Amino acid sequence: MQKRKHKLLLILIPVIMLGLLLFPFIRSLAGTFSPDRKPHRMVDPDRPMVALTFDDGPHPDWTPVILDCLEKHGAAATFFEVGSNMDLYPALCARAEELGCEVGSHTYSHIDLTASDAETIEQDLRLCDRSFRLALGHAPTLMRPPGGAVNGQAKRLTDLPLIGWSLDTKDWQTRDTAATVAAVQEAGNLDGQVILMHSLYQSSARAAEILIPWLLDQGYQLVTVSELMQVRYETLPQPHIYYTVDFFLYGADPAA
Ligand SMILES: [Zn+2]
Repeated sequence: MQKRKHKLLLILIPVIMLGLLLFPFIRSLAGTFSPDRKPHRMVDPDRPMVALTFDDGPHPDWTPVILDCLEKHGAAATFFEVGSNMDLYPALCARAEELGCEVGSHTYSHIDLTASDAETIEQDLRLCDRSFRLALGHAPTLMRPPGGAVNGQAKRLTDLPLIGWSLDTKDWQTRDTAATVAAVQEAGNLDGQVILMHSLYQSSARAAEILIPWLLDQGYQLVTVSELMQVRYETLPQPHIYYTVDFFLYGADPAA
């Protein structure tokens, strides 16, 4: 009995010592990933800025490629996620927020808001809210309407700012890395623009790996949609308002 106790102590003491030695390291790791320790980016209002946006995810293969690239370059993007996908891969959304990215709603089941009745839309929004709370612990603060389709009813029923884009890379159509890259690189001045891409395709993720360092090389800050709205457009996104190319490119009043 006594011998056994000794043996147990002989095993336990090194384990405890190792634990004590590693404790500060483990604690610092936990701190790195805790959601209240978001990396803070300083956005310089006097330098050009672009908001990259990725719709339809999270995707188990391609969202991590995009996130790895953003993390490597200390850059941010906005992910408009489908609630039913968030239920499958909540950790990818949490990682996006931890990196200082923004996660917005793209409805629960990618419904066409202009072709659905009020009850269907309301139920979908409720489900999407639930997905956000489960994955991120909060409700969404922005929405991108699937297909960019919005009408009066959709504006009324969605209690969120509706965010369109100003540059469509058509990555969902071409599914081609070079074409997606060219759509951005040949678009001219990108300051203040919201670029539409998707997390569903390998070609889009590869294009993101090229475009993120290229945009930074060109002097653009890569910011979230909310940062772009606040710093470049000096406005807080308002619920029931649809911000489209007319707002981002031509300065039109979105409430008009
Ligand atoms: Zn979509």
